[in-house]
Amino acid sequence: MSLLITKRCINCDMCEPECPNQAISMGEITYQIDSERCTECVGHYETPTCQKVCPIPNTIINDPQHTESEDQLWDKFVQLHHSDKI
Ligand code: SF4
Ligand code: SF4
Repeated sequence: MSLLITKRCINCDMCEPECPNQAISMGEITYQIDSERCTECVGHYETPTCQKVCPIPNTIINDPQHTESEDQLWDKFVQLHHSDKI
């Protein structure tokens, strides 16, 4: 499941450099997460690192529009990091 940044985001810039998949970028109003690149940090960390560093509680949440199994997240991780090397 991809994660989602809600309107509670204060654009503090903490999460963007921490994402191992370059899934976070500045959107029109707040930071946003690219669901094609978010693996919930599977393959890198045990828990989503963006949630860990975000200072505002409940700002980064699970995105119900993009649910994925653990296997799918692993596949995404492999595809992302394989294609990054080409
Ligand atoms: S959960 Fe991990 S991969 Fe997804 S946006 Fe947050 S830091 Fe990036
Ligand atoms: S860490 Fe939280 S408040 Fe800061 S930019 Fe990211 S989502 Fe927004």
